Amino acid sequence: MQRITVLGATGSIGVSTLDVIARHPQRYAVYALSAHSRVEELAAQCVQFRPARAVVGTAAAADQLAALLRAAGVNTDVAWGEQALCSIASAAEVDSVMAAIVGAAGLAPTLAAARAGKKILLANKEALVMSGQLFMDAVHESGAVLLPIDSEHNAIFQSMPQFGGKVPAVRDSAAGVAKILLTASGGPFLTRDVATLDAVTPDQACKHPNWSMGRKISVDSATMMNKGLEVIEAHWLFGAPADQIEVVIHPQSVIHSMVSYVDGSVLAQLGNPDMRTPIAHALAYPERIASGVAQLDLTQVATLQFQRPDFERFPCLALAFEALRAGGTAPALLNAANEVAVQAFLDLKIGFRQIDRVIRHVVDTLPHGAAHSIDAVIAQDAAARVAAETFIAGLAK
Ligand code: NDP
Ligand code: MG
Repeated sequence: MQRITVLGATGSIGVSTLDVIARHPQRYAVYALSAHSRVEELAAQCVQFRPARAVVGTAAAADQLAALLRAAGVNTDVAWGEQALCSIASAAEVDSVMAAIVGAAGLAPTLAAARAGKKILLANKEALVMSGQLFMDAVHESGAVLLPIDSEHNAIFQSMPQFGGKVPAVRDSAAGVAKILLTASGGPFLTRDVATLDAVTPDQACKHPNWSMGRKISVDSATMMNKGLEVIEAHWLFGAPADQIEVVIHPQSVIHSMVSYVDGSVLAQLGNPDMRTPIAHALAYPERIASGVAQLDLTQVATLQFQRPDFERFPCLALAFEALRAGGTAPALLNAANEVAVQAFLDLKIGFRQIDRVIRHVVDTLPHGAAHSIDAVIAQDAAARVAAETFIAGLAK
């Protein structure tokens, strides 16, 4: 029996994770669940999965959850705040942690799971983007197992060689990897006239052609910052230099990514676009379990297309490559500025094409240095947020 904490249980990934877990009650038990403000959804999950512990964002939310659980006769211990999140991610009773909080808020608990040597199912790419080296160091020091949930990285993981049960680094010549081919759907605005992009609404930006996801990552997919963050994520997960990561637009989202080898072979992982596949893969790894996802019917898909990304249409992708090459705290600045800009766009404070301007301003004006400690990363994250807010306040929409 694997005991699991699901951080971000009420989100898109959290709900899909619980869907897979519910299909295998003999294999998985839920130890703890977390949400931020969707208390009623979390209460319903507690009624169904009976976790020992649940964590929310504020004292008021905790009171509300405790009252709902009392009324339902559920005996789950309720707490709130970052320390409580770190505690459910690192408790001795936990085997695996699904890290599915969105944004920088996931950093502390995901890092706590890494330091405690847990099996980490990583969806929260922002945590790795912010603190890549420190995070990977924590994983190696504690012996934690890090399995990628992001569909592309899960596909790469499945397409990489394994030496003695371990995936070698891309930069290790014995791996024989020429390039990682990171596929991207191109999002909802792949073919839309660029001149009209300033007028798009949050609902249009969140209407992804293939995937159903939370609003922040949906906007990131529309700007292709999501792919930019994934390039940085791939760099850390697979020890891949920027020059060995290539983004390929593949609008059907059937090939979830590929690994191109020096002998000319290309290995890929395919499937219907449903996050329950990578979630089930990581939960059961190295075994396989049913996920509820329909088998892929290639005759139904019929056509697979590929093209190069247009960096002028998607300036956020170029910004992410620049931040990766700059190194140090540059990716943390990029990530924080992006989070603030995306929220401002969702709140109708800025237009879609101003998202990249905010990020460009922050990464160009703030000094970035070495990411030698988590405190340094968090300080840079905070400074970037202030700079982004100030710039947004000065922008006439
Ligand atoms: P959602 O917005 O759907 O869910 C986010 C979850 O995090 C919710 O449970 C939310 O709680 C919680 N949360 C939000 N803010 C905070 C905070 N400040 N502190 C603690 N918890 C918080 O996001 P997704 O599920 O789409 O994405 C989660 C992560 O997975 C992201 O990092 C994303 O990039 C990554 N990912 C997602 C994919 C997808 O298909 N959705 C694919 C690949 C990666 P509440 O509900 O109460 O607000
Ligand atoms: Mg992805």
